[in-house]
Amino acid sequence: MTLYTLDHFIDGAERAPAEGHYTEGFDPRTGQTISRVALGNAEDMALAVAAAQRAFAAWRDMRPLARGRLLTQTALAIRAQARELATIESRETGKSTPQALGEIEGVAQYFELYGGLATALQGETIGLGAGYHSYTLREPYGVVGAILPWNAPLNQAGRACAPALAAGNTVVVKPSESTSGSVLALARLLIGCGVPAGVFNVVTGIGAEAGEALVRHPKVRKIAFTGSLRAGQQIGRIAADRVLPLTLELGGKSPDIVFADADLALAAPGVLKGFLTHAGQVCLSGTRILVERSIHDAFVAAMREAMASYRIGAADSTVGPMTTRAQYEKVQAYYAIARAEGAVAEVGGQLPDDPALAGGWFVSPTLYSGVDNSMRIAREEIFGPVACVIPFDDEAQAITIANDTEYGLAAGIWTCDLARAHRVAAQLDAGQIYVNEYMAGGVETPLGGYKMSGYGREKGLEALHHYTHVKCVTVRL
Ligand code: NAD
Repeated sequence: MTLYTLDHFIDGAERAPAEGHYTEGFDPRTGQTISRVALGNAEDMALAVAAAQRAFAAWRDMRPLARGRLLTQTALAIRAQARELATIESRETGKSTPQALGEIEGVAQYFELYGGLATALQGETIGLGAGYHSYTLREPYGVVGAILPWNAPLNQAGRACAPALAAGNTVVVKPSESTSGSVLALARLLIGCGVPAGVFNVVTGIGAEAGEALVRHPKVRKIAFTGSLRAGQQIGRIAADRVLPLTLELGGKSPDIVFADADLALAAPGVLKGFLTHAGQVCLSGTRILVERSIHDAFVAAMREAMASYRIGAADSTVGPMTTRAQYEKVQAYYAIARAEGAVAEVGGQLPDDPALAGGWFVSPTLYSGVDNSMRIAREEIFGPVACVIPFDDEAQAITIANDTEYGLAAGIWTCDLARAHRVAAQLDAGQIYVNEYMAGGVETPLGGYKMSGYGREKGLEALHHYTHVKCVTVRL
């Protein structure tokens, strides 16, 4: 098979890596090598940051209406090329084409939303009495670095970069070395829409080299990081020395709480979707399913039955492969941990034995019962299609178990009691609360973590403010 090559995209053009080194890219459905991906280093990063720095003043000084129009045009171009982008995204991540198309529609909406909001970044006037005139300006940082994980690369690129660009920053993106293709396609598309060269640059490569070089570069003024807690902490240590503002979108171990008064016909498929979407490789996944004891056995039986109809496989089947070999191995390690902890595998708990899947990084959708919230499978992020069911006796206990985690990204509530929904939502320590539909929301709804799931917010109007700092000008008249 002919391998395709992914080079950096710097100052409006593709560019081979300074040292000429490449790593392999894989098809997760077969485990076969499909591409060569440029391994960026500090020299490549310096070139990209310099290009972004050169492009900054003109981009910042453009009338916001005109800047926003370029982003809105990008949204239209993304929609027009959605099929091609979805093919790249699906090939590299292993996700189904419908899933990829849904995420790419989200990317178009990020550019649409922030293109429209480019003019909404306004300051305030502050009353100081006669004799003074005081006002604030929201100014872009300059060069913003965006570091992305592999699970939804294009969507996360849009989520981080569209508001950064709308606010007048220029950007250098470091995608995951496993999934760089669609972000590079976006870079070409932005140029085609008239966004000036240097405004959006991509340096591919690994975190320890290209990623760290981006965080350490003195001209980078802000980092938007999406990824694991471990890498977020490493970046946070470097950023502390540089006093560098960060947005950290990290992991989760989110509770999905099913009360006995829920509409169970809605809850069972909703809870399943909450941890099986993209084979569980979603930070928001509801992987701790807390079920009121009176309905526990019936609910587990309903889940078992529904999961029996889930197909595992390539093409557009429901549950695709793990995107990376490391993730494939990690899920298997948690199957062993669950066995050692004495959890009961109601479904799955071992690799699928279908010979048609051989070579691909497929794991089985898995549901564990007999789980206590202190077990590792209830505390650690697995990032695969694996969830555990934990019973509770009353509302207070559900809230205690739900909040007993170092993470705080999302939480689901299933109930027909409106007062309970709001009461419980107010007491859960998480940035996203979903009532009667897990992962409800859109590009307009702010997203971010409590506790060790991170800080700062992406999406919505909120994110725009994270890409500017406030200057206050006070004049004695
Ligand atoms: P990861 O942390 O291993 O890598 C993420 C990115 O950071 C990659 O581009 C990687 O190369 C880079 N990186 C790693 N170490 C770095 C370092 N020291 N300095 C600079 N860059 C570095 O994460 P992953 O395995 O790619 O993604 C899975 C994780 O991402 C999960 O924990 C998941 O929950 C999280 N995630 C969070 C969100 C969110 O919005 N909160 C969304 C998607 C994924």
